[in-house]
Amino acid sequence: MEISVPSLLRIKPKALYKIGKYLRKESMNKIALFYGEGIKDMFGEPVDISLDSSEIQVGIEKTIVNNDVQEVYSMTFDMPKDVQAIVAIGGGKVIDFCKYLAFVSRLPVISVPTSISNDGFSSPMSSLYVNGSRKSLKAKMPDGVIVDTAIIQKCPEAFIYSGIGDLMSNITAVFDWKLAARQENKPINDFAALISLNAVENFINYGNKDIRDIELLRLVSGSLVMNGTAMEIGQSSRPSSGSEHLISHAYDKVAENSTLHGLQVGVATYAISWLQEYKHDVIKKVFLDTGFIDFVAQKPLSKKDFFAAIDLAPSVKDNFYSILSEAGKIAKLKEFVQTDELMKKMVV
Ligand SMILES: [Zn+2]
Repeated sequence: MEISVPSLLRIKPKALYKIGKYLRKESMNKIALFYGEGIKDMFGEPVDISLDSSEIQVGIEKTIVNNDVQEVYSMTFDMPKDVQAIVAIGGGKVIDFCKYLAFVSRLPVISVPTSISNDGFSSPMSSLYVNGSRKSLKAKMPDGVIVDTAIIQKCPEAFIYSGIGDLMSNITAVFDWKLAARQENKPINDFAALISLNAVENFINYGNKDIRDIELLRLVSGSLVMNGTAMEIGQSSRPSSGSEHLISHAYDKVAENSTLHGLQVGVATYAISWLQEYKHDVIKKVFLDTGFIDFVAQKPLSKKDFFAAIDLAPSVKDNFYSILSEAGKIAKLKEFVQTDELMKKMVV
C-alpha cells in the first residue's frame, strides 16, 4: 500500500504571492498551470510575478470550465513532455480536474484552493463527469497544498460555512465507521480515525468562532488537509464520510436546488449526531457559535427533498453500513427533523 501525503504545505496570509519560491524549493521549475473560471482575472497577476521572479517556466496554461473525464484524457496529449508538476489554482472543479490529470499522467500536483468549501482540495478523490453523470474517481493525492488565508478570509461566507460543515462531519463519519466495523467484524484504521477526530477537535477547541478570524481559517484549512490525509491513510473515504454524506449525496440527486456540499453535510451532521446520541451538544454549540445555523436558515433546505434524501441515503453507496441501516432509525430521524427547533429553521 503506497500512501502519499502533501509534503509541501503552506497555510498563511499572502502564500499565493510566494508560489514561485515554494515551487523552486521543490525543484519544480517547469509547470503546467491551470486556473478555475474567473480565477486568472483575480489572481493571475501576482501568480505571474511570483513565477517570473523565481524563474519558473509555464509549459502550458489553461482555464478549466468543464470537468468531464474525457477533457482530462485529451489534456494528457497537450502536456509538454518536460513539465515537472501540475499546479491547480481555484475551486473544486479545477482541483478535481488536476488531481485526476496528475493521476493519469503520473506527475506531482500542487493544489492551491481559493476557497475552502470542502475537503476536496487535499483528498485523493476527484469528482468528474463520466458519460454525463457525476462520479467520484480515485485520483492523485496532492503533493503540495498552498492556502492563502488572506484570500480565504475574503471569500463569500457560504464557502467558509460549507468548509466548517464538511469538517464537523468527521465526528458522525467516524462513529458510523466504528459501527460498521463492529457489524461486519472488520478492523478500522485507528490512525486514520485519530487524524480525522483530532482535526475536528483542533477546530472545536479554538475559542474564537468568528468565521473571518484568520487563525480560525488557518485551523479549518489545516484540518481539512488532515481530512484528505486521513482518507489516504485509511485508503477509504470512511474517516470523513458517513451517513451524513449519504444524505447530502442523496439530496444532490433528488433536490431541484441543491446547495454547497458542506452546507448540506453540516445540516445532516447536526441531525445524525442526535440519532447517534454522540456529541450532538458539541456540534450544536459549534453551529450556533459560528452562525452556521442562522446562515443556512436564510436559504433553508427543502423538507420534502430532505425527507426523500433520508429515504434514498442507505442505497446511495453499495455495502455501506451506517446508523441509517439499523431498524427504525429513518423514522426516528424524520421525527427529529419535524420537531427539533433548530432543524425546523434549516429544513423548511
Ligand atoms: Zn465532504
